[in-house]
Amino acid sequence: MIAEGERKHVVVMGAGPAGLTAAYELLKHGLPVTVLEKDPKQVGGLARTVEHNGYRFDIGGHRFFSKNEEVEELWTEILGDEMLSRGRLSRIYYRGRFFAYPIQAFNALRNLGPFEATLCLASYLRARLRPIKHPKTLEEWVRNQFGWRLYSIFFKTYTEKVWGISTRELSADWAAQRIKSLDLWVVIRSALLPSRKAKKRGEIVTTLIDRFRYPRLGPGQMWERVADIAAAKGQPVQLGHAVRRIHHRDGAVTSVETDGGTFDGTDFISSIPIRELINRLDPPAPAPVRKAADSLGYRDFISIALMIDRPSVFPDNWIYIHDPSVKVGRIQNFKNWSPDMVPDQARTCLGLEYFCFEGDGLWSSSDAELVALAKKELAQLGICGEGEVFDGVVVRQQKAYPVYDDSYQAHVGVVREYLATSLPNLHLAGRNGMHKYNNQDHSMMTALLVARSIAAGLALDPWKVNADAVYHEDIKVGEHDLTGRQVPTRIPAEV
Ligand SMILES: Cc1cc2nc3c(=O)[nH]c(=O)nc-3n(C[C@H](O)[C@H](O)[C@H](O)COP(=O)(O)OP(=O)(O)OC[C@H]3O[C@@H](n4cnc5c(N)ncnc54)[C@H](O)[C@@H]3O)c2cc1C
Repeated sequence: MIAEGERKHVVVMGAGPAGLTAAYELLKHGLPVTVLEKDPKQVGGLARTVEHNGYRFDIGGHRFFSKNEEVEELWTEILGDEMLSRGRLSRIYYRGRFFAYPIQAFNALRNLGPFEATLCLASYLRARLRPIKHPKTLEEWVRNQFGWRLYSIFFKTYTEKVWGISTRELSADWAAQRIKSLDLWVVIRSALLPSRKAKKRGEIVTTLIDRFRYPRLGPGQMWERVADIAAAKGQPVQLGHAVRRIHHRDGAVTSVETDGGTFDGTDFISSIPIRELINRLDPPAPAPVRKAADSLGYRDFISIALMIDRPSVFPDNWIYIHDPSVKVGRIQNFKNWSPDMVPDQARTCLGLEYFCFEGDGLWSSSDAELVALAKKELAQLGICGEGEVFDGVVVRQQKAYPVYDDSYQAHVGVVREYLATSLPNLHLAGRNGMHKYNNQDHSMMTALLVARSIAAGLALDPWKVNADAVYHEDIKVGEHDLTGRQVPTRIPAEV
């Protein structure tokens, strides 16, 4: 227990981008900091890079791009020349053909072939002439806008793979907000007769989308470097320290207990999932707060890395697999992110991504079964033969995506209110730490604000960082559409 008036000491829970950015900033301010990480071997959280026999791969490919200049500069400050600038190529694969992504009308129609393209146009015209009145579901809304056939090729399968919910059960609101201005006729017209303004806008969008930065050795290199800097300053990350109990007394957290010891502090930052944080409070949080935290949901993720005895398999960084005949959702080609992700340029490492729920059939399959499935699906898609795969490894990632259901905001609100009033020296930052479907830049910005508030006694509110990682004074409670990424939600139950 640290006595009143003593120097600040901050305990950070989680060594992902949020926890490590907080530590980095606190150390710049000369404050001692202890970072507790449950992973026994490595830092980086969802943005770690896993290594297997010299092959390196991400948990999903991690592009480094941000509208927040401070974050961009921080990446350069940490890794300097090790940050590569990469071109992006990612396409959609559907029934043996590759489609440009973002979708381009003519490319799509040409790729579909004259027969299917005619059917798509007919189905589009039918949808326009006889739209479903008052579309409620995602399926009805997109079908009205693009026709049934294009909808089933470009929207249905992938959305269902990612979220694990039928598009008939998803609300139309998400599509209506995200793609409200997109209509097939407008797309065709602007492709035929682009205005000068539209051309310029197109160029800007393309440059934003076509290039991104990436550490030479994968995203984990960024976070390993930060951990090295902290260690050099005498504050090594405590690996293998899963938070078990968070002790509090008289309206303040006093220490955090792990299997390896108890760590006292004056201020505490949590980037671990809200559900875990609340359940580890000792004495326990009031029942309604625990109920709110327990109601938060997550979507999980499996990445299967396959090593292939071929120098070049496809030119993309990644491919979206819309094909309904396979379970795989996306395939990463890590060598195309950085050549140094593979130890031997004569070979390739692909990451096959499967979206799932912890405990479902896929999650519970053995590693051997999963590697066999990935090999079979690669061959089925015609990407490479099973015999070319000489090694494979499975990474299961819990809580990869915080779920935005109808009630998540209300539940997060209950937790926020409780912590703000009852334990003000416990601060939340980051993705699952704040239940935000974000990118690294958002996690980093929220962590910077929390660290600065602690170090300089400022009242910077991490909940005012929007999805672009920009701090907005005027964000109000409940404005999730400004502070989080848009995701589809289930249709609200009838009242
Ligand atoms: C498939 C996928 C693709 C992505 N692509 C991109 C991209 O292209 N670009 C981008 O910028 N972002 C991307 N992201 C998002 C990015 O990974 C996150 O924004 C970022 O990693 C969040 O950082 P964080 O520190 O908030 O959380 P996390 O990375 O989740 O870190 C939390 C840490 O807390 C630890 N922890 C959890 N529980 C405990 C406990 N009880 N005790 C101690 N430690 C604990 C975890 O092990 C972890 O290390 C992607 C994410 C996914 C899933």
